[in-house]
Amino acid sequence: MKREFIFLGPPACGKGTQTEMLSKYMKLPHVDTGSLLRAEINNNTDSGKEAKSYIERGLLVPVELVAKIIKNRLSQSDCANGYILDGFPRSTEQADELFRINEFIDGGKDTKFTAVYFDINTDLLEERIVNRRSCPQCGTIYNLQSKPPKIKNHCDNDGSELVQRKDDTREVAHLRFETYNKETAPLITYYQDKGVLRTINANGNIQEVWERLLAVVND
Ligand code: AMP
Repeated sequence: MKREFIFLGPPACGKGTQTEMLSKYMKLPHVDTGSLLRAEINNNTDSGKEAKSYIERGLLVPVELVAKIIKNRLSQSDCANGYILDGFPRSTEQADELFRINEFIDGGKDTKFTAVYFDINTDLLEERIVNRRSCPQCGTIYNLQSKPPKIKNHCDNDGSELVQRKDDTREVAHLRFETYNKETAPLITYYQDKGVLRTINANGNIQEVWERLLAVVND
C-alpha cells in the first residue's frame, strides 16, 4: 500500500529534522517545498524569481507555482510507493490541490494518507529561527544555541561556511508566524474532519519527538 505523509506545525517546530529522519526510516522520499523553492531561486529560474519576493516577505508563494513544482516531483518514479511531504500543503486551497494531484498521478487508490500535526509551545520558536544556520554544501542544520558546530560557523561534516536563510531574520520570522496562523492552521480542522489527523507533542528533544512520531507512523 502507498503511504503518504504530510506534516503540519508552525515554522521551526522541528518538522524538517523529523521528516528527514522519517524519510530514511520509511525509505520514502523527503519532498520539502521550502528546499525545492530555494533550489529554484539558486538556479535563477523564472519560478525562483517569482517565488523569491514572497519568501522574503514571509508570505506563501502562489498556489499555481508551488502546485506545479509538487506535481512534477510527486510524479517521479521514486514517489510511487509514497512520500514524506514537508511544507505542503500550507492552506486549504493547497490541500484540495494535493487531492487533485494524487488523483491525477494514480487515482489516489490503495493509499494510506496521514497528516501529522506537531503540537508545540510557540514561545521559543522565534529564537530557534534566528539562531538557525545551515551548511550550503550538505544541508546539515545547526542551531547556534542548542546544536552549535564544533568549529565556529563551519560545518562539522565538510567544513563549509554556514549560512543563514534570508527569511530567518526576526522580522520575517514574525510574518511567517502570522501567515501560518492565518493560512495553515485551519488545515488542522480540515484533516481532523477527514479523520486522517494524528497529533504529536512536539515539545522536547529530537529523540523524544522522534519516538512519539514513530509511535504514530507504526500505528
Ligand atoms: P520553509 O522552508 O518550509 O520554512 O519555507 C520557506 C518559505 O517558502 C515559506 O515561508 C514560503 O514563503 C515558501 N513556501 C514553502 N512551502 C510553501 C507552500 N507549500 N506554499 C507556498 N509557499 C511555500
